[in-house]
Amino acid sequence: MPDTPTLRLPALATRLASVRSSVVRDLLALTERPGVISFAGGLPAPELFDVDGLRASYDAALATGGRALQYSTTEGNPALRALVADRYRVGGLPTSPDDILITTGSQQALTLLAAALVDPGDVVLVERPSYLAALQAFHLAGARTVEVPGGPDGLDLDALDALAREHHPALLYTVPTFHNPTGRTLDGPSRQRLAELARNRGFRIVEDDPYRELRYSGDPQPAIASFDDAGAVLTTGSFSKVLAPGMRLGWVRADPRVRTALVIAKQSADLHTPTVDQAAAAHYVTSGRLEPSLDRSRHAYRERRDAMLAALPGALPSGSRWTRPDGGMFLWVTLPAGHNTTELLPRAVADSVAYAPGSAFYAADPDPTTLRLSFVTYTPADIAEGVRRLGGLF
Ligand code: PMP
Repeated sequence: MPDTPTLRLPALATRLASVRSSVVRDLLALTERPGVISFAGGLPAPELFDVDGLRASYDAALATGGRALQYSTTEGNPALRALVADRYRVGGLPTSPDDILITTGSQQALTLLAAALVDPGDVVLVERPSYLAALQAFHLAGARTVEVPGGPDGLDLDALDALAREHHPALLYTVPTFHNPTGRTLDGPSRQRLAELARNRGFRIVEDDPYRELRYSGDPQPAIASFDDAGAVLTTGSFSKVLAPGMRLGWVRADPRVRTALVIAKQSADLHTPTVDQAAAAHYVTSGRLEPSLDRSRHAYRERRDAMLAALPGALPSGSRWTRPDGGMFLWVTLPAGHNTTELLPRAVADSVAYAPGSAFYAADPDPTTLRLSFVTYTPADIAEGVRRLGGLF
């Protein structure tokens, strides 16, 4: 690029001023170095993508002629909406295809929900800690995020009730199943109480549930939306962790009033999610290859989770604590007081291992002793080696 002449151009939009640029993002760029065993990113294992099955489904989608490459409706491919609704019904949550809006990744569902439900200055309650890119979506919409404390089993619901009374939030954002970043799962009674709190205190809930199908132990929990009869719970889901994230396919299950607003917001974002990807996904799910592929992923990820849990006690300093997730991709470590995982990361990378420093996941007052480890990307042997390198830092 040529040098920018010193013209007087307008400043960038103020809404971007409130979005934190992330030191951690810069640090994580270092973890791309060859030879680094990186537990930092949330990358599904690429060798588990069913490339042959997906190639056959893309072939089938393209065999319909130009239709799979044409513009289409904003709401999404009818067959895919019906398949998503079916999976909710089988899981005990009555859902019609009309309730589903297909989105470009569930990340877009979060951005659209923020656009449709949050005015600048509104309070959005978020978990402490929380999924970083959701915080960004809410901040971009001008939200003031307020953190709800929690423990190993999930949110502190009494604290949530008090915060809702104090702040009159527009919504609560939660990842109830195999939470990113902590891996924790909210039990059934807590989900029911959450839905009741939302009704009593008059706020909505965004139930972000992309990891639901990746369960390795324990019993499935009902969706928060199954306790809601007021249209107060908006549930998002994703094909990223069950098919492949590069297809960028997600969805939101929403009450008709909210859905209409989301459709309008989506029209301004991208008109619709790519037609060919939706058609291929619908074909793939119908072909019966999804369940065996998911079983392979669950089997491999369970082994990888267990390999990491087995290696951690010998590597982390005494007094460290960590979560033992029943599914998903992450576990969350709290080191003894005095450690600073952001400051430690460059040394870790020099020793060819990486993690995500916990500070990235807080809306306020980061806890410097925390870090997130993804256990899905590497084989058990590489996980053992990576955790051994991590132990060398302490
Ligand atoms: N929500 C959570 C909690 C996530 O961890 C992610 C991906 N890391 C997303 C939403 C977005 O996923 P995608 O857009 O690929 O569906």
